[in-house]
Amino acid sequence: MESESGWEAQQAAAAKRISAALQKGRGTGAVRILLQALERNELPSNGELWDRLRARLGASASKKLIAALASMPCFYCKSGVQRCEHCDGDGCHSDASPCGYCLGFGIASCDFCNGSGRATYTVVPSSLRMHVLEHRMQQALKEANQLLKAAIPTAAGRTIKIVRRDLAGRLFQIDRVMGVLENAVTSAREASRSRKELRKFAARVIRVARRVALKLDARMRQVLKQLVQVERSAVATTKSTAVKPPVLARIDLLHSIRKRRGFHGCTFQHPFLKLGSIRR
Ligand SMILES: [Zn+2]
Ligand SMILES: [Zn+2]
Ligand SMILES: [Zn+2]
Repeated sequence: MESESGWEAQQAAAAKRISAALQKGRGTGAVRILLQALERNELPSNGELWDRLRARLGASASKKLIAALASMPCFYCKSGVQRCEHCDGDGCHSDASPCGYCLGFGIASCDFCNGSGRATYTVVPSSLRMHVLEHRMQQALKEANQLLKAAIPTAAGRTIKIVRRDLAGRLFQIDRVMGVLENAVTSAREASRSRKELRKFAARVIRVARRVALKLDARMRQVLKQLVQVERSAVATTKSTAVKPPVLARIDLLHSIRKRRGFHGCTFQHPFLKLGSIRR
């Protein structure tokens, strides 16, 4: 058994290593050191961790550590997307009908991180979790504002291939932010269940997240509308004999999903944001 002062020395040493990594701008390294130190019981894993770290690292470095934890990527996917498991990435089924889950894109939001592209909250030490959540929320709100301001890509002066790619990219960008918001809602709600003092905080997170998500949801439907228009005009300019029934089926699918409440049943659904139940 380590003596009390021995443990203090271990904590100081771990904090020093974390601090050194942060000073060199190595956020990922600092996170790795933190998680290793926790695993080896060199730092308290209970609610004291945040206070201890802040006391040892100082306000600015502990903020940096939170930022590094917040940006930790999901180890399973790339930027929140993975190959669609429903169609094996083909975008359609063996009968050539479009995949209703990925809407023919062939990619879908990652099941592991809920499309957020970030490490799940379970990876974050519990006493730092709400700080990381707050940081991720702020980032998500910034990104949401940018996405709401950005013009929807149009066909003007571009090839169909590029417009298609840009519109799909925009949809999955919006979906990623929705994933971050949804994870924040779930995690804040869960934390407030065991810690009553977090109830107000959680209520605010849920309120803000849903309000922004509602706007993003509307934006997503506008982008889908644009995609339908682009695909329709592509069909219109193609010789009618060359237009294949699956292409038309996909356009119908995109058109119908645009009107579906909460994007239920497809990759863009985020049931925990409960957008279907908010009055528009
Ligand atoms: Zn399917
Ligand atoms: Zn699919
Ligand atoms: Zn992921």
